[in-house]
Amino acid sequence: MPHVKCLQCRECKSEYPIEPLNACEFCFGPLEVSYDYDSVAKSVSRKSIESGPNTMWRYHDFLPVDRESAVDISTGFTPLIHAKNLGRQIGLDHLYIKNDSVNPTFSFKDRPVSVTTTKALEFEFEVLACVSTGNLMGSVAAHGAKAGMETMVFYPADLEQGKILGAAVYGPTMVAVEGTYDQANRFCSELADAHRWAFVNINMRPYYAEGSKTLGYEVAEQLGWKAPDHCVVPGASGELHTKIWKGLEEFEAIGLIDKAKTKMHLAQAEGCAPIVEAFESGNNQVKPVRPKTIAKSLAIGNPAAGPYSLEVLRDTGGTGVFAYENSIVDGIRLLAETEGIFTETAGGVVISSLKRLVRQGKIKKDEVTVAFVTGNGLKTLEAMGDFVAPIETKPDLDTFQTKLSNRRD
Ligand SMILES: *Cc1c(COP(=O)(O)O)cnc(C)c1O
Ligand SMILES: [Zn+2]
Repeated sequence: MPHVKCLQCRECKSEYPIEPLNACEFCFGPLEVSYDYDSVAKSVSRKSIESGPNTMWRYHDFLPVDRESAVDISTGFTPLIHAKNLGRQIGLDHLYIKNDSVNPTFSFKDRPVSVTTTKALEFEFEVLACVSTGNLMGSVAAHGAKAGMETMVFYPADLEQGKILGAAVYGPTMVAVEGTYDQANRFCSELADAHRWAFVNINMRPYYAEGSKTLGYEVAEQLGWKAPDHCVVPGASGELHTKIWKGLEEFEAIGLIDKAKTKMHLAQAEGCAPIVEAFESGNNQVKPVRPKTIAKSLAIGNPAAGPYSLEVLRDTGGTGVFAYENSIVDGIRLLAETEGIFTETAGGVVISSLKRLVRQGKIKKDEVTVAFVTGNGLKTLEAMGDFVAPIETKPDLDTFQTKLSNRRD
């Protein structure tokens, strides 16, 4: 792979070989894949991408793995929908929903996991593992099954049933850890040192993170090779937020799009908003919090990419915004009732935060705005509460007509 140079520390810039490593030996900074963009530029053009498969693998030239060995369950190239109804309601003429809830395991996590599983096979790992806030484990379990690997998933014991079953069905070893995600994460860091396992979001994290760049590429391509004016991205570790931006910057660097002037907004839930709190108080460091939110997929109190997400907010003129806990389900229902898309709590956080950004004047009526819907609502049914009130009727015309007119009064 001539286009992949090395791993590089995001802090002190020390370089490392392409191996299953995630932290710098000198400063403990996180490592990131570094590319030779001259080499990438030689192999890609708008045309070559457009003639690729209708999956994320149309962007394989920007990924640190071989296309031929890809563990591909047909992830990506998901719809970008002009959300006219929702836009009209909240006051935007050019609102788009990037619907990533239609991926094979119903969340955007299939993008990073597809890249990591491929890399894990290349490194000849036999065990694929992860620590998850819910969606990651479903994706890891599915890709492990496809790759024929032994799979182990660790998760905080209080997750939603849809997330638990949505992973268990693929046959991994399920490990329910008592405590929060952050406690499970610390435990798994110890495990990653003790075993030769490919932990997708620990020792394999540099490769994992790269997969999310494809969301940035897709949005630019689907807008007719243009970066949007605004992105509204949900944040847990903050990685997705930074990688969508990295994707747009890379497209610009290669000359596939003009200069990206996108404002990269970050949306978190009120009950777990450490990055937004740091943004609002002007801190460069993120102070960990103990999560208390219905948006469990975003419940990371000590976000690994927090400082980099803050940097992206400041560099792009984006805003860190949180959704009130009692507005998350409203956001889910608003998207469903206007656009026919049922998202999970993370999507509710995004829609509710989007409304606040428009109300605060941060996003203007005529600006091109992309809201990222990253997971499917059928996995978080518990969060919806008890709002269903059907007309209950005998199978009898008169009874029904009476009840229907009562309901309409
Ligand atoms: C994991 C997840 C996120 C956040 O991803 P980070 O990269 O950790 O910020 C957002 N939405 C959904 C549905 C997720 O599962
Ligand atoms: Zn370093």
